[in-house]
Amino acid sequence: TESLTVAELAKKLNREPSEIIKKLFLLGVVATINQQLDKDAIELIASEYGVKVEEEVVIDQTDLETYFTEDREEDLEVRPPVVTIMGHVDHGKTTTLDSIRHTKVTAGEAGGITQHIGAYQVKIDGKKITFLDTPGHEAFTTMRARGAQVTDITVLVVAADDGVKPQTVEAINHAKAADVPIIVAVNKIDKPTANPERVMQELTEYGLIPEDWGGDTIYVPISALTGEGIDNLLEMILLVSEVEELKANPNRRALGSVIEARLDKGRGPVATLLVQNGTLHVGDPIVVGHTYGRVRAMVNDLGRRVKEAGPSTPVEITGLNDVPEAGDRFVVFEDEKTARQIGEARKQQAVQAHRNETARISLDTLFEQL
Ligand code: GDP
Ligand code: MG
Repeated sequence: TESLTVAELAKKLNREPSEIIKKLFLLGVVATINQQLDKDAIELIASEYGVKVEEEVVIDQTDLETYFTEDREEDLEVRPPVVTIMGHVDHGKTTTLDSIRHTKVTAGEAGGITQHIGAYQVKIDGKKITFLDTPGHEAFTTMRARGAQVTDITVLVVAADDGVKPQTVEAINHAKAADVPIIVAVNKIDKPTANPERVMQELTEYGLIPEDWGGDTIYVPISALTGEGIDNLLEMILLVSEVEELKANPNRRALGSVIEARLDKGRGPVATLLVQNGTLHVGDPIVVGHTYGRVRAMVNDLGRRVKEAGPSTPVEITGLNDVPEAGDRFVVFEDEKTARQIGEARKQQAVQAHRNETARISLDTLFEQL
C-alpha cells in the first residue's frame, strides 16, 4: 500500500474519519475524507496512535540469465524435446509415464535400474525425448511462476471413458498460456466404455481440433495399461519436436532449471537439473537460484555417474551449498571466484528478502493487527 485515503486509514485504525481529519488539522494538514494521504502523512498519523509503519524494501532480483549471452545461429544444434504430461486426476498420467519408461528405458539398458530423479530420457531410433516425471499442473505452474519455461511439448492425457474434466481444461489453459503445443493422448482405449470420438468432440470446444477434422491437433489413442499406441505417441512427439525446431548450443557453459531438490543426509544438497542450453560438466562452478557451488558428482536418470550433460538432459548433481527450489534457474560460470561472488550476493539477497518478508508488516496487516 503506497497511499491511503483518510477514510481508508480511519477504517484501518478503527477510528472515525472525523477524528483523523481533526488530528491532521492539528498537525497542520487540511484534509477531506476522500483525500489521498502520502507515506509521510500516514506515518505521522500512525505514530499518533503508537503504530510504526515499515517500508517495503525492493530487492534487486537480477535474473541469472542476464549473465548468459545469446547464441549465434550457426552454433545451434537440434536438441531433444522436453515433455510434460498433464491431465485430469486418474486419467492415466502416471501410468503413461511408467509405460513409456518401462518399454523404452529398461529395454536395452544394462541393468535397467531406473532411478527417480524427477525426469527421464528415452531414445527412439536414435532420437531422445526428455520427460518430466512430475506430472500434474503443480510442477508446471510452480516452475513457470518462478520464471522457468522448461516444457517444449505437453501431452494431454484424457481418459476415453471419462472425457473432458476440470483439470483437463486447466491443463489446456496452462499449456496455452505458456505457448506450448499440445498432443492429445486419448487413454484407456482398452476399456469397453471408451469413447475416443466424444473426447475429440469435447476438446474441439477448446480449440483442439483433430487433423482429420481440418484442425492441427494431433490425437493419439493409447492404452497406458497395455502399451498400445505408446510407440505412436512417441513418434508424434518427435514429429512435433521437429516442427518446433528445438535447438541449443552444446558447446558453451550450461544454463537450465532445477526440476527438484532435496537435502540428502549423506550427500548434502541434491538437485535434479535440466540442462537447457550448453553442456554441464563435473567440476563446473555453478550458481543455482540463491545458492552456488561446484558440481561434485552427476548421476543420470539410470543412476549412472556421468561426467557431462548436454542440452535437454536431466542430471542429479551434488556440490551445492544449499538446497535450491524447483523452478530456480542455474548458470555455470567460468571460474569459481565469479560463481562464489554472484552466488554470495544472491544468497544475501535471499536472506534479506526473507528477513523483510517476515519482519515487514505492510500497512494492511499492520492495521489489521490493531
Ligand atoms: P493419474 O492420476 O492421471 O496419474 O492416473 P493413474 O496413472 O494413476 O491411473 C489411474 C487409474 O487408471 C489407475 O488405476 C490405472 O491403472 C488406470 N489406468 C491408467 N491407464 C489406463 C488404461 O490405459 N487402461 C485402463 N483400463 N486403465 C488405466
Ligand atoms: Mg498420478
